[in-house]
Amino acid sequence: MKQVYISLGSNLGDRVDYLNKALNILSTHREIEQLHVSSYYETEPAGYLEQGKFINAAASLKTTLYPLDLLTVLQSAEASLDRVRTVRWGPRTVDLDILFYDNLVLEDHNLIIPHPRLTERVFVLVPLAEIAPNLVHPLTGMTVIEHLEKQSETGGVIRL
Ligand code: ADP
Ligand code: MG
Repeated sequence: MKQVYISLGSNLGDRVDYLNKALNILSTHREIEQLHVSSYYETEPAGYLEQGKFINAAASLKTTLYPLDLLTVLQSAEASLDRVRTVRWGPRTVDLDILFYDNLVLEDHNLIIPHPRLTERVFVLVPLAEIAPNLVHPLTGMTVIEHLEKQSETGGVIRL
């Protein structure tokens, strides 16, 4: 079993319900076990700013799925939860990203692990720090908490 961390986000419709449903899909998958979820956080949009606030969370899980198969599971969960791909970094019912997959470092054209933007995204680091503060990033050698402490702006992330 591999230890995996994912991030979840939603900023359209009933955001809490979308995250709950996504987590339910994962928790009932037969190759996913021991799903643990952080609190939910309301966060300001990053990137494309003309959109509503997000609810973000992080989760840990154990799986026998290979990375690309896990990505497929996440993307079909997104699709089944009404996600339509429009603007990159734009509004979405649910976004499920792989943050870490054990200590794997992978650069495929449609999958990069660890997630390349996690070290600079407060809305990813805050929920992740709640469930895995001492997890070490395989490329930077720094823990999640250390990455979070390097961020100058940690406002705009409110625990629900
Ligand atoms: P974003 O998550 O960057 O806001 P999308 O969810 O639309 O945007 O993802 C765009 C693409 O990112 C996906 O089609 C996927 O192939 C790719 N991708 C690369 N690395 C990852 C990762 N670690 N987790 C999830 N998707 C990834
Ligand atoms: Mg994504």
